[in-house]
Amino acid sequence: MAQWPLPPNLHSEIAGGPICFHADHSIGSKDGLIPRYTDSHACVKCISALTEGRLSLDVHKIERKYRRRFLEFWSFVEIKDPDECWPWRGKYHSRSNSSYFPIPRHWGSGRQYSAQRVAAWFTWGDIGRLPIKAVCGNNNCCNPLHLRVKGVPHFFHNRHMQLIDLEFNSNKLTHETQLFLETTCEKDPRRFEKIQKANRLWIDFRLQANGPLSPFTMGDKTASDDPSISFT
Ligand SMILES: [Zn+2]
Ligand SMILES: [Zn+2]
Repeated sequence: MAQWPLPPNLHSEIAGGPICFHADHSIGSKDGLIPRYTDSHACVKCISALTEGRLSLDVHKIERKYRRRFLEFWSFVEIKDPDECWPWRGKYHSRSNSSYFPIPRHWGSGRQYSAQRVAAWFTWGDIGRLPIKAVCGNNNCCNPLHLRVKGVPHFFHNRHMQLIDLEFNSNKLTHETQLFLETTCEKDPRRFEKIQKANRLWIDFRLQANGPLSPFTMGDKTASDDPSISFT
């Protein structure tokens, strides 16, 4: 998929647009709209978070209506250590061998985007159609620390902090995607079948993998008994 070419006066105009994936960004919005750049469609708040080097893997910070898709997406990522590549185990276009994940966006009729772009949206923020680059050179890698967004500066003030954070949160995310798969398998077999179809081997493997989990994820508060997690 060709990337969107950066225009000369990038981000010179802002207008109201649909809410982004990150729940905090619609707080205080009275008309149900959030500020977005008119050219890239990126969320203005997401761009400032990215510029400051903020990154999140927390399903609780995702807007309620996107949580199911978020967990479905990460179910197809082989989440490894923060300094390793995280391979995409979901669907690929057979001709170009490029990854994709179905997710409709408001600016276009296309309903499929590269797994890398979706990984950037769900971690760094809703960067719209800004071009991205994998610094590890692996176009199937979904590790947010290996992704750079072009056109906006990145300041990694808290890089050290981020690694600790990312390790903790990626363990949590692995656990949450597992619960998501188990719950879907049990409560919504038809949807589960659809998910399984994308890569049966991988999904079966994920369902059988019962660890190793960190002591943090085994703590007293997990997604299963947390009423604030909702897939609707
Ligand atoms: Zn946002
Ligand atoms: Zn990588």
